[in-house]
Amino acid sequence: MAETLSEHEVIIVGGGPAGATAAWELVKNGVDCLILDREAFPREKLCAGWITPEVVRDLEFVPEDYPYRFLTFDVLNISIKGLKLPFRAPQHSIRRFEFDRWLVERSGAPVTIHNVRHVVADENGFIIDDKFRCRYLIGAGGTRCPVYRDLFRSLQPRAKELQVVTQELEYPCQYEDGNCYLWFFTDGLPGYGWYVPKADGYVNVGVGGVANKLRRKGDDIKRHWQALIDRLIKTGLINVPPGQPGGYSYFLRAKADITHQGNAYLIGDATGLATRDMCEGIGPAVQSGLMAARAIHHKTTFDLAQVDAHTLGPKIVYRALDYAFTGNRA
Ligand SMILES: Cc1cc2nc3c(=O)[nH]c(=O)nc-3n(C[C@H](O)[C@H](O)[C@H](O)COP(=O)(O)OP(=O)(O)OC[C@H]3O[C@@H](n4cnc5c(N)ncnc54)[C@H](O)[C@@H]3O)c2cc1C
Repeated sequence: MAETLSEHEVIIVGGGPAGATAAWELVKNGVDCLILDREAFPREKLCAGWITPEVVRDLEFVPEDYPYRFLTFDVLNISIKGLKLPFRAPQHSIRRFEFDRWLVERSGAPVTIHNVRHVVADENGFIIDDKFRCRYLIGAGGTRCPVYRDLFRSLQPRAKELQVVTQELEYPCQYEDGNCYLWFFTDGLPGYGWYVPKADGYVNVGVGGVANKLRRKGDDIKRHWQALIDRLIKTGLINVPPGQPGGYSYFLRAKADITHQGNAYLIGDATGLATRDMCEGIGPAVQSGLMAARAIHHKTTFDLAQVDAHTLGPKIVYRALDYAFTGNRA
């Protein structure tokens, strides 16, 4: 006998910042929605966990009410090939392990642990793994989102030149310096290394770079990881070397023409939205999540051109960084 399908108005595949924000906005407006995620929250997500004031604004919370680790630093200490360019504007750090759990729980949407394998469109909407049916579908499954793979990839392949690879680790560390440091293009890295302290004795350290550029030079992101750790120890920013890092890749913002297909929407890393100057993906994930939810509920347009493409204010800095990462002269 055929299994009964679990039916919902909206199904969101992936409960990261993009999916959880879409769910939050839908639930607020009384729309029936279900989040499917292959992992139970809290779950690990490789990410430095730096968030901008715009993220706090878009998620409508005040730091005092946030129940987990939250740190504010007044300056981003940016260094480009040794040239120091402090970016003076308050920025924040959270731990993704905590933040993503909070976002999902706050959304009020039910979450089913399910690793989505197949998504099929039919005349009534979408069927997922012969188990779930929905009228609207939101793909928020990150870089390897199955909604992107099954419904969008053939129409809009990923722009390989915008793929970033990373190595990073978040670990308990009693640091002395509670400021954030970013080192761009050191030792030929087509990207940057970071030191992001968290409240109450955690730090996140890592390196990220454009995959194609590294490959062309016969270079390896792991070499840059080791160089970063050596620098952090030499400068005294950390005194305990971290253990083995984890690796992950994602895509910077491309010219995405196809971001929804009928009632299927792609948001966050699933569509490749991280900013071209700082590789910041949480803000664009949140903004695109809100937009998809509003497009479904209020029938507004879903135009990802409205999502911030750059993090930094000074045009000259973001243009230089965009050019250095992607070769884009616009
Ligand atoms: C090392 C590193 C450091 C970074 N640092 C920063 C930073 O400091 N600040 C910043 O703004 N951005 C940063 N980013 C980018 C940022 O992490 C992402 O842009 C952001 O997480 C995108 O959110 P998302 O919700 O689209 O996807 P994700 O956070 O990846 O969430 C996707 C969700 O989908 C689920 N999922 C995946 N596949 C399936 C499936 N088949 N079935 C069901 N569920 C599935 C996953 O379990 C996950 O919960 C960093 C990225 C990396 C790799």
